[in-house]
Amino acid sequence: MSSQKSKAHLNLIGGKWVESPSGETFESVNPADLSDIVGRFQLSTADDADQAIAAASTAQPDWASAPPSQRADILNRAAKLMESKTRELAELLTREEGKTLAESTNEIKRAAANLTFYASQSYLIGGETLPTDEKSTFLYTIRRPVGVVSVITPWNFPVTIPVRKIAPALAAGNTVVFKPASLTPMMAIKLCEILTEAGLPPGVINIVTGSASKVGSRLVQNKQVNAVTFTGSWDVGDHIQHAVGTTCRTQLEMGGKNPIVVLEDADLDLAVACTVQGAFGLSGQACTGTSRAIVAKRVIGEFTERVIDATRNLTIGNGLTEGVKMGPVADKNQEDTILGYVKIGKEEGAELLYGGRKLDGDGYDRGYFIEPAIFSRVQPEMRIAQEEVFGPVLAIIECDGFDDGLEIANRVDYGLSASICTRDLGRAQQFVESIQAGMVKVNQPTTGVALNAPFGGVKRSSTDTFREQGSIAMEFFTRIKTVSVRYGK
Ligand code: NAP
Repeated sequence: MSSQKSKAHLNLIGGKWVESPSGETFESVNPADLSDIVGRFQLSTADDADQAIAAASTAQPDWASAPPSQRADILNRAAKLMESKTRELAELLTREEGKTLAESTNEIKRAAANLTFYASQSYLIGGETLPTDEKSTFLYTIRRPVGVVSVITPWNFPVTIPVRKIAPALAAGNTVVFKPASLTPMMAIKLCEILTEAGLPPGVINIVTGSASKVGSRLVQNKQVNAVTFTGSWDVGDHIQHAVGTTCRTQLEMGGKNPIVVLEDADLDLAVACTVQGAFGLSGQACTGTSRAIVAKRVIGEFTERVIDATRNLTIGNGLTEGVKMGPVADKNQEDTILGYVKIGKEEGAELLYGGRKLDGDGYDRGYFIEPAIFSRVQPEMRIAQEEVFGPVLAIIECDGFDDGLEIANRVDYGLSASICTRDLGRAQQFVESIQAGMVKVNQPTTGVALNAPFGGVKRSSTDTFREQGSIAMEFFTRIKTVSVRYGK
């Protein structure tokens, strides 16, 4: 499996695969097996980023005037290519990021479906006609691409998150400079290869791999960049928001501290299944992952026991192995941070009921494997109930009922996704109205949102500017022009 001696993958700039003049490379490593080097990549410089931006800027006018059928055809072809390579790409994704093969397969299929969805959006970029008091005048709006878009993405969904940014950008006639997370450059290169093979003209998609410390500021501050779409942590998003100029628009998707509220009338089987899936799916490394279960006093005992039982049944291991339900965490940093929060939880006085230790023996020493952690007696103000852990750590918090549960759920800085488990439709609707979150689920896990639905949050989870996903995504990637035409006296 190791490709240690293989040549380094190249950057894509202006339609050519090129080396970085830095002459330096870096590796991506399988977090389930550190001896498996997934690939080697260019450690790009600020100059590489500037060149990619210049190439995107040169290519943009022609791409903007390409007919919608051309853009749609290319995106549809890319979708088909991706589908045809599902197995190969899913295995590579599991090797590079660590998620299970089933999770990777879902991600590839979802990315292909996104490409198809945005292909159709090429035809749907419209405007509106407006009544006017002016005689013989036709007043209307048109939408045009914003120009050059920097796409900066995290490692946890290294295919779907880039696709749900790049595909709408391209469908609207923008050109793109793509900087993937340094942990998962292989999947980004594969995506660019597919888009190129599908017929994207030179310069329409460009990729520079490497550390944000080298290329990040250019992608955000170069004056030829008209928009930055970013997904990642609050700290980096906040930095980007302050670094961009006033003529550059931003779309920032950041962290979460997502609650599931379980009322005493809940279907406990369902509540437990939703909680375990939301908390430990993707090794807890989903922005919409469940990190707090806020549970009514009367059912908290039974709920907790059942969550522990269900968690015990999760087989942890290399995501390529059949039957494995939870893979490793992404890297040493993630491992240290997660184990650090387990320690903090214990020190704060929460009770660690299950897991929370680094696994060893049985092949676990090869990678970054952690047992899921379940804490009870968590107080809402504790750090494990307030800060994003981004790992398989569940904080169970007792509440007195609906009002108390809602208040605790809202008492955090984040507001991405939230769920309630109840049979009472009235309570559910009250929750929908009052929860401070961009996405609300009823009797469902906090994770997973349909690809045609708007995605985003409130508070520290997203900038209150533009939503991602669905047709509303096209708003970020287009600019409105108002047109007034006098056609007579
Ligand atoms: P991160 O450290 O913020 O990095 C995200 C991306 O930003 C990476 O490509 C990173 O490059 C780049 N970056 C870092 N510093 C930068 C700078 N100063 N200027 C420009 N780019 C910079 O996040 P992560 O660890 O990859 O991902 C985990 C975070 O993403 C969590 O907080 C999670 O909640 C969030 N997330 C949110 C959503 C959502 O939709 N709301 C979805 C998924 C994940 P390097 O890799 O080279 O550092």
